[in-house]
Amino acid sequence: MIEMQDVWKTYQDGSHAIRGISVRIEKDDFVYLVGPSGAGKSTFMKMIYREEVPTKGQIFVNGFNIGKLKRRKIPFVRRNIGVIFQDFRLLPKLNVSENVAFAMEAIEAPKKIIKRRVPEVLELVGLKHKLTSMPSQLSGGEQQRVAIARAIVNNPTVIVADEPTGNLDPETSWEIMRLLEEINYRGTTILMATHNKDIVNTIRRRVIAIESGQIVRDVIRGDYGYDG
Ligand code: ADP
Ligand code: ADP
Repeated sequence: MIEMQDVWKTYQDGSHAIRGISVRIEKDDFVYLVGPSGAGKSTFMKMIYREEVPTKGQIFVNGFNIGKLKRRKIPFVRRNIGVIFQDFRLLPKLNVSENVAFAMEAIEAPKKIIKRRVPEVLELVGLKHKLTSMPSQLSGGEQQRVAIARAIVNNPTVIVADEPTGNLDPETSWEIMRLLEEINYRGTTILMATHNKDIVNTIRRRVIAIESGQIVRDVIRGDYGYDG
């Protein structure tokens, strides 16, 4: 599903963000990526959705060597990967339905399919009653649900989530986790960077800890392993 082979990433300014990571993530996996700030978690995930390319080594996503993709092939791989951010990143001038439709328009899905699929996926995340609301009218949890709808609307094989509960209160965070668990249960790989100790220690899944750009721990039903 996702495979990294001796991946290194050095940024232009000389920061060694990832230093020799090899790992396999299977289709059914739900992976928490933990570790201190600056450890390389975001860089790890950015290379999976092809926002960054490795300086050295190979990354395969669904069999595609994504570091070596020709520019025009990138959209084909990206549609298989849904991305969720801590700060939601909705388009503020588009309503809820339009935000989700936008992701389908980006892959040139037919209008008819978009019209049917958008309300369906918004119902799935519990927002059937907010189809025409603007993002600014929504709570943080609701905005994150829209972002999740947008991430899954094209039926990706992988969801990459960079601290998806980082801006949410505990109650709302648990709701978002239940949704991510359900998405994983339906067969989507989830890779989630998090500092949420409670969540990691309660919903036990695979934990990969990164420190200074290297994997220092990889446990099937792991714990958070840090204070705070
Ligand atoms: P984390 O997500 O664990 O906080 P990051 O992947 O954001 O870690 O950062 C890993 C290291 O790479 C840090 O030293 C950070 O400062 C550096 N870094 C991240 N992004 C860039 C960038 N665009 N340019 C230069 N250095 C960067
Ligand atoms: P369909 O192929 O008609 O979409 P599915 O059984 O795949 O039927 O999906 C049932 C429901 O779940 C639909 O509303 C669909 O949009 C949604 N769905 C499909 N794939 C995923 C996924 N990976 N994660 C979350 N929801 C999904």
